[in-house]
Amino acid sequence: MTKGFVYLVGAGPGRADLITVRGAEVLKKADCIIYDKLANPALLRFAPKDAEIIPVPKRVGPGSFTQQEINEVLIEKAAEGKSVVRLKGGDPCIFGRCTEEAVLCAEAGIDFEIVPGVTAGIAAGDYTGIILTDREYSSQVVFVTGHEAEGKQKSSIDWDLLARFRGTIVFYMAVGNLGFIAKQLMDNGMAGATPAAVVADATFPTQRVVKAPLAAISDTCKRQEIEPPAVVVIGAAADSDMRLNWFMKKPLFGKTIVVTRDVQGNARFAAKIIQQGGSPIEFPTIEIRPLTRANEFLRALAKFSEYDWVIFTSANGVLIFFDCLCELGKDGRVFGSAKVAAIGSETAAKLAEFGIKADFVPDVFTGEELGKQLLKAENLRAKAVLLLRSRLASEELPELLRQGGAKVDDVPVYDIVTVTGRSARLVEKIAQGKIDWLTFASPSSAKAFFEHIPPDSVSSSSVKVASIGPVTSEQLRKLDVSVDVESSEHTIDGLLEAIERAYG
Ligand code: SAH
Repeated sequence: MTKGFVYLVGAGPGRADLITVRGAEVLKKADCIIYDKLANPALLRFAPKDAEIIPVPKRVGPGSFTQQEINEVLIEKAAEGKSVVRLKGGDPCIFGRCTEEAVLCAEAGIDFEIVPGVTAGIAAGDYTGIILTDREYSSQVVFVTGHEAEGKQKSSIDWDLLARFRGTIVFYMAVGNLGFIAKQLMDNGMAGATPAAVVADATFPTQRVVKAPLAAISDTCKRQEIEPPAVVVIGAAADSDMRLNWFMKKPLFGKTIVVTRDVQGNARFAAKIIQQGGSPIEFPTIEIRPLTRANEFLRALAKFSEYDWVIFTSANGVLIFFDCLCELGKDGRVFGSAKVAAIGSETAAKLAEFGIKADFVPDVFTGEELGKQLLKAENLRAKAVLLLRSRLASEELPELLRQGGAKVDDVPVYDIVTVTGRSARLVEKIAQGKIDWLTFASPSSAKAFFEHIPPDSVSSSSVKVASIGPVTSEQLRKLDVSVDVESSEHTIDGLLEAIERAYG
């Protein structure tokens, strides 16, 4: 049997993309992932489909794990010969009980690697512009736990030394104990006026910062209902220049945005929203089902070399087409001398991933414009044109091309079916004013969304509606939903830009 291996991996402070390259790499090859409450579950997207996933939350009550139990699972899985990733929030060796797990591996003769992660204290500073070291005011930083091991007879925190510390003190696990911590420092001589800041949910769209002098920080946090996870920064650094708080200044920071595409499309869109500081809610409305096993498609593929033009109208269509080619042991050479058109930049970018450069992309990304502009640029009379698109796509494009004299085969490569989501919760959130935006990237997702969500629950609330383009807007209006913004470039990036513009 192959020998097991344990990776003690830092997941980073919160945001899934703040894991290290090495961390992501070992996750991709893991047989088993044992993960903490503070490790972002979105990281599990890196995991192989068949990896065993074991959440080990350490809270009180049923379903929680003691450190002893975690240790046992870790060794048991490694002993089975598995590559085990033990995923911990932040850095594994900063208040992460890493020693116990590493010693255990060493004693059991199991090889291990420690993969560093960005620790919460550092990320909280970086994401708020609270700069932990500065040649003017802080030449030293110290990380301190605000919650010592239970049953410890004597505190190992040097309160008198910390009270005199001329630098930045970062407390972890300190929210519940903040009053006590401030008192210890002040009793030992630190001025009550010393700047303090608390950063909760660092790097997440829910990030919050509270600032107050040391003497008042505990009460201020209570009043503002600050909850863990949070770090407390004490010292001149905490009196930071608010202009440097770049993250919370992002246009979409704190905005909750519902994405309504298929599961994969939602994940890509959500990542972009997070990038802009927003908080996405993924609400899949549709599922995309390949039709590449259907006779109609296979017939078209068999005579592929006879087409003069092949037209793709979505990135999904491209992806499904190439998945099918791959399954059949073929590749981009099937295009031969055929020219390729794409409806827009996203579709063209997807084609480029497979080594195909689109010969034609209109400057407005709709089916109608694609047809009109292509006819203007090329003589399609008697030309054989293959349209590879959704079964539900409208007749406009093939009709235009036929009017221009082309022989058009309109072949569906995928079907769109409606899926059901947990709509009651979303309706409730909309009514409570907790959602800022609903986004629609296609008429089918708009139609499917409002099969679950009554349109009047939207019109009677403060939620705004963003549409990717005129065809989607028209579908929304048919459903009695008014559109607040429509993107001028009909792509996901364009849609996000339109929402950002709404905030000036
Ligand atoms: N190994 C982790 C720390 C684990 S101790 C690391 O290196 O970050 C747990 C403490 O980390 C929490 O009580 C809190 O103080 C801090 N923490 C973790 N994630 C945080 C976040 N996103 N924002 C603020 N503090 C966080």
